Amino acid sequence: MDFAKERKSMVERQIKARGIYNDRLLDAFLKVERHIFVPKSMIKYAYYDQPLSIGHGQTISQPYIVALMIDLLELNEDDIVLEIGTGSGYQTALLAELARNVYSIERIETLARSAEERLKKLGYNNIIIKVGDGTLGWNGTTFSTDEKTLSYKEEIDIKFDGIIVSAAAPEMPQKLIEQLADNGRMIIPYGKHFSQDLLRISKKKNKIKKENFGGCMFVPLIGEYGWKK
Ligand code: SAM
Repeated sequence: MDFAKERKSMVERQIKARGIYNDRLLDAFLKVERHIFVPKSMIKYAYYDQPLSIGHGQTISQPYIVALMIDLLELNEDDIVLEIGTGSGYQTALLAELARNVYSIERIETLARSAEERLKKLGYNNIIIKVGDGTLGWNGTTFSTDEKTLSYKEEIDIKFDGIIVSAAAPEMPQKLIEQLADNGRMIIPYGKHFSQDLLRISKKKNKIKKENFGGCMFVPLIGEYGWKK
């Protein structure tokens, strides 16, 4: 299979054709090899216009929705980003191409560990992954999957320029809003099971602005300020 050709076609037909023209973002999608992040049985579908199963009842999201969420984050290369829901690590890699540091939290330990191993093999050294409940934010979570090799250090009261939540929240996780920096943006699917709105929450001088970018469908965000299973 010519994966580079498939990636180019994914970028042209699924992302650019739907109105996303951010060059830095498009370059990251051309670079990051999505087929490395899916289970072997899914490789032939890796560049299809759809979400795919990654096991444990979870999915790697459709390429376009990942692009839309990252585009809405409006990342600068100096930004520090928090991702809730590492999953396969695909979106983590894209964020690491576009920002200075990526902190990522995944509640399923097996997924967190295999994403971390994959990202390390690919040479990313600006990503830290923790296992825990992302609804509590970075400071509320339990432990890093690999404290030694990722030069992990506990950072108190860290604030994020961007927060991206890759699972659907039934309530607004206040801890995440608290951990947004001034001028920070958070992208979050918000609503009921099987039907949510994609929201951007922006913080400026402690004022919160909410914008709605339309309907979407994500797996549930499970945790203290999420669904209770
Ligand atoms: N962005 C991922 C990728 O590129 O593969 C896909 C994320 S998948 C749609 C959502 C992920 O969120 C799942 O792996 C799920 O286990 C995780 N998740 C759900 N609730 C969570 C929570 N409270 N904290 C951390 N991760 C959570």
